[in-house]
Amino acid sequence: MMNRLILILATLVLGFQPRAGAAALEDLPGAGAMTASLPAAPAPARARTLICVDPGHPNTFNSATNMVNGTNENRINWQVGQRLERVLKEKGFDAVLTRNAELNYVENKDRARLCNNGAALAVHLHCESTPGTGFALYYPDRPGVYDYKNDPENGFRGPSAGVIAASRPLADAIARGMSAGLAGDLRQQGVYGDSRTAVGSNQGALTFSIFSTIPTVTIEMVVLTNKKDAAFIKSEAGQEKMAAAIAAGIALYRAP
Ligand SMILES: [Zn+2]
Repeated sequence: MMNRLILILATLVLGFQPRAGAAALEDLPGAGAMTASLPAAPAPARARTLICVDPGHPNTFNSATNMVNGTNENRINWQVGQRLERVLKEKGFDAVLTRNAELNYVENKDRARLCNNGAALAVHLHCESTPGTGFALYYPDRPGVYDYKNDPENGFRGPSAGVIAASRPLADAIARGMSAGLAGDLRQQGVYGDSRTAVGSNQGALTFSIFSTIPTVTIEMVVLTNKKDAAFIKSEAGQEKMAAAIAAGIALYRAP
């Protein structure tokens, strides 16, 4: 009587149900033999690692649509982003873009949050427009404070120590993939902390890094104001090489 009362209470309070009549298929006699006589079923599809690809701009601060050497940064980011999404899927990853059109406006903090929603890591694609040539990578090397007075989230702090610790090895892995895949076309100009960038030196980290809860890296793929870099990244072959090199680097990454 007492035992039955406890069971009724447990059922009510915890949703506990005795599994009478719910024997699993593998517990039934003969189930194993039946399976063995059938042709081998294909292995169940492995859960694919989701990579978030963020083609940088247009955002609050910069549309990046001004023409440079016959193209613009926003267009290049978008074109390479689409290629990277495809190449990652070909390599066995799953991939998601943070926007769905070349001129789709998305704030940087929202890009981070889109990526946080299920992706294992995020890469933000950009092009540099300072003097010089080649590619460079940036990762959050310290927490930052979001500095945007008109935004209700002004003062938001991040990322966590875990994101900071995991982002450096991701940047290093992608830099290795890019150095190998782009050898002879573009030189690696270094792997730096976000605090080396203009926004990062003010906030402590780039905005998508501050709001990121997953490892995150910003890639300045080329210097678009450099004629040779621009010619490379405008070409279909150059964009394919860039996407393949970044994807190869992502495949090298092992979370710490
Ligand atoms: Zn940019």
